[in-house]
Amino acid sequence: MHVPQHRIREAEVASELSRLENAISKARTDLEADRDRVAEKLGPEPAKIFEFHLGLLHDSSLLDPIQERVSTERVTASYAVSEAFRGMADQFRAMGSEVFRLKASDVLDLDRRLLAQLSGQSRDRLARVTEPVILIAHELTPTEAASLDVTKVIGFATDAGGRTGHTSIVAAALGIPVIVGSKTITLHVDDGDRVIIDGNTGTIIVDPDDETIAQYELDIERLKGFRAGLRELASLESETSDGTHIHLLGNIEFESEIPALLEKGGEGVGLFRTEFLYLTSLSDPTEDELYESYKIALEMLNGAPMTLRTLDLGADKHTQQQAEEPERNPFLGLRSIRYCLQNLPIFRTQLRAILRASAHGTMKVMFPLISTAMELRQAKMIFTDVMEECEDENIEFDHNIEIGMMIEVPSAALLASTFAQEVSFFSIGTNDLIQYTLAVDRGNERVASLYCPANPAVIMLIKNVIRVGKRFKIQTSLCGEIAGETLYTMLLIGLGLRTLSLVPAKIPEVKRVIRSVDIATCKRLARKVGSFDSERQVLNCLRDELRKALPDADVGWSGG
Ligand code: PEP
Ligand code: MG
Repeated sequence: MHVPQHRIREAEVASELSRLENAISKARTDLEADRDRVAEKLGPEPAKIFEFHLGLLHDSSLLDPIQERVSTERVTASYAVSEAFRGMADQFRAMGSEVFRLKASDVLDLDRRLLAQLSGQSRDRLARVTEPVILIAHELTPTEAASLDVTKVIGFATDAGGRTGHTSIVAAALGIPVIVGSKTITLHVDDGDRVIIDGNTGTIIVDPDDETIAQYELDIERLKGFRAGLRELASLESETSDGTHIHLLGNIEFESEIPALLEKGGEGVGLFRTEFLYLTSLSDPTEDELYESYKIALEMLNGAPMTLRTLDLGADKHTQQQAEEPERNPFLGLRSIRYCLQNLPIFRTQLRAILRASAHGTMKVMFPLISTAMELRQAKMIFTDVMEECEDENIEFDHNIEIGMMIEVPSAALLASTFAQEVSFFSIGTNDLIQYTLAVDRGNERVASLYCPANPAVIMLIKNVIRVGKRFKIQTSLCGEIAGETLYTMLLIGLGLRTLSLVPAKIPEVKRVIRSVDIATCKRLARKVGSFDSERQVLNCLRDELRKALPDADVGWSGG
């Protein structure tokens, strides 16, 4: 919104300042209410997204100059607000990284809130909506997404945004169909249009004909039936038709996901991504905050195991400080364990929190992105040192805590037998393993077609890790996205995996495949796949076999 520059009279300054004060105070109250509602609905972690906004509304270095301009230059409060917030957004944008672009849109979100207060408009047109709608917007900030009332907004689509942005993370937690980054949807839809958004395929249909609507209504009914069937699966054993148990664990980002994970039949947490506490606030979390978060997670799990991954910052997940010093090749740069080893205070703080929490449940720890034996040894040495420190301070912790590593770099997969002698377990992270083996940026849509888990080179590396794990008698699991792709379930079992960690929502579907197959068939499939030299052959074979085992299975492939 462009705010024209109007002058006010000397006599109006006092009332303009009081209008400004009221607008800020009302915006704070609204944000606090949104934060509390989100905390109640989604848990404390997503609610932290609001802290950045609230922080700005208490930041005198931002607010004082606004008041100053109203007093001395006699501009309107709206103009002064708009100038200050836009200036700040421009600064964030100029920093060039995705994280700061997100911050810029947060700042503009706040700008809109304040301007709406100042002009006396209710920002929330949705408050007047009486029947369910689909929201079409150029952009939705995480706070806007988080405060949506899902009884009114049954789905949304935006021009801007990416799959890994906070808005998408929040939307996923809301459980409504969402399409972000459609580029031009706002140009094609007008208020009141009938729209279908299909979150599964990423399709938006504007003004559908009766036949299409009937088809989608049928699909919705079928989906409901399918989901009801999947719900029943939660309480059934995750075992193959010939009685081999396959452990299904969950990948989570927030502890608030644990109840849903258990409800879906997950046996514990196989990957707790711990970065988000560092991304949602302006300063790094304290040892006590981390400890509380891990302890709550373990208590929610009530004895079920949890594998916590130490900080995997960098590449596409920056702290403020990292974003100030952009790297030319961030995915090949100072990310993950490398970052921790160069920033020991941050790493040690996390390790202390982990150890303290370990007294409250069954916890394992693993290090991400290990690429050399030296790195692993350094990480372990620091962990041992922190353990000794805790012992000296009489802190209670699990002295036998298992230490493992992620295998997500080809060097680690190839040297698995060296690593196997130094850790208790492996967890194969195919998301990164694929990108580093095939030299394809996993987040770049221009090379997305090259990012394929079915590439024989990737399968060969996975196979090697499993073989080594067996030889050295250490547990090997897999926690990349393919663990939740039913197309790969038979292959992964056939290659010898007995533990998979996946997005909680996918557990029932994967369990359904597991219960329909036997080990001999899966092994045969893995042998056959091993003889192919193209991903096309592999994919065709996986589709055929899955169809044979489960004739109504969805054999589409939705990315790596
Ligand atoms: C992986 O790389 O496969 C993985 C599970 O880690 P992330 O997706 O968090 O990089
Ligand atoms: Mg990874």
